Amino acid sequence: VYTNLIRLENDPNKTIGLVTVIEDITEIRKLEKIRSHFVTNVSHELKTPLTSISGFVETLKSNTIEDEETKQRFLDIIDIETERLKRLIEDILTLSEIENSQHRALQEEVFPTNMMRQVEEMMRPIASNKGIELSSEIDMNLPMIYGNKDWFKQMLINLIDNAIKYTPSGGKVLLTGYKKYHNIVITVKDTGIGIPKKDLPRLFERFYRVDKARSRKVGGTGLGLAIVKHIILSFKGRIKVNSEQGKGSEFTVILPIEK
Ligand code: ADP
Repeated sequence: VYTNLIRLENDPNKTIGLVTVIEDITEIRKLEKIRSHFVTNVSHELKTPLTSISGFVETLKSNTIEDEETKQRFLDIIDIETERLKRLIEDILTLSEIENSQHRALQEEVFPTNMMRQVEEMMRPIASNKGIELSSEIDMNLPMIYGNKDWFKQMLINLIDNAIKYTPSGGKVLLTGYKKYHNIVITVKDTGIGIPKKDLPRLFERFYRVDKARSRKVGGTGLGLAIVKHIILSFKGRIKVNSEQGKGSEFTVILPIEK
């Protein structure tokens, strides 16, 4: 807390009052800290694939590798790391766009039933490629809400994509949508690896991962849930997680229906 004392004078010899200005700068400090942390993290996250790419390019350029198979393997790694870099940049841009326009987000008509069906169809091949059964129980007549349609879709994609990524082959992912009181409730439930209790409070932070190596292996950027959180805020909603290690996770999104 910042306190400032100002002397109110109309005549240099006469004090007519004192004003104390109390300005709360803790919030500003906190935001500055988050921002500077984010820049450090971004630099680090971008550097990792870049170092790998430039290392393999150097090796290939040096002409010391004769074996065709090894060359091919190195090219594959360069390809994978380039893709990761692209995804990272896309996610950073998405997050910054959503964050910067959260309070003046588009107020389009969003029909949750249609959107959920569309995303389910879109994600089905990804699930079945991994041997995961994606199913749904969606109320046919969910009321319309207002917000950004693309963001709504992105939120569903990120949650379902995570459910698929962190569920081993043979598992199940269930998407549900229903109305409860003045809210639309959306759940994404999986039979996957689950999340340890201690990690739950930090899950929606940027670049926070339970297991960094696993996230990398499945192509994660560590920004998916941070994006989800900001989208939900733009809809004035909230999100809850229930999870048990080794059993699965359930993400519940609650979005208010405006009267
Ligand atoms: P990532 O790109 O690493 O998946 P996210 O922000 O989407 O980043 O998620 C953050 C972390 O939360 C993940 O690294 C993972 O550890 C955990 N997580 C997210 N969704 C699930 C899920 N459905 N099951 C298990 N763990 C999950």
